[in-house]
Amino acid sequence: MNIAFDTLGKEPVELDLEANASELPELLESGAIGKVHAHVDVTPLAEEIYLARGEVRGILSLDCGRCLDKLDQPFETQFNLLIGKRKEKGLDWLEDEDQGIEDYQVKLGPDVFDIPLDHIIAEQVILNYNLHPLPDLDAQNNCVKCGRPAPVIKEKKKTDRVDPRWAMLKALKEIPAKPAPKGKVSGEKRGKSES
Ligand SMILES: [Zn+2]
Repeated sequence: MNIAFDTLGKEPVELDLEANASELPELLESGAIGKVHAHVDVTPLAEEIYLARGEVRGILSLDCGRCLDKLDQPFETQFNLLIGKRKEKGLDWLEDEDQGIEDYQVKLGPDVFDIPLDHIIAEQVILNYNLHPLPDLDAQNNCVKCGRPAPVIKEKKKTDRVDPRWAMLKALKEIPAKPAPKGKVSGEKRGKSES
């Protein structure tokens, strides 16, 4: 997903860009799927200097930390990109100490005609969205985001029980420590030791 520099002129332009998430490797890492749309308003500020203000929409397919299934999370992020030219070849991303979290600056060499937006979009998604969601549960123990039941029993075992191997070891050790009278069944044995 690129801004083509030669589409920019003396008048403001609005660009509607679309790409498949699979074409945006950095964004793909965040779990993006399907189409990604960007609407970009570009305003010329001076000779060969432009301000591009973009809004990007798409969908992330995340792993729901509650029901452990896939969860579709729509995303919408913004960015401001100051575009300028430079004499040297290549593309130079600059950073100012006082620039905001959505602000970017780039300078294009004479050999560069496209400004890639992949990194900007990926960074804004990472900054604005929790990629490891853990939604609340409703009264029926269903995940509020996707409505699927949460595996509650598994979670409880993890928190208030020791490793099952330790529990087994403990049980093995306890048997000889409490010699039961001959002929008694295990149920009675337990009752006695608790009293
Ligand atoms: Zn869920």
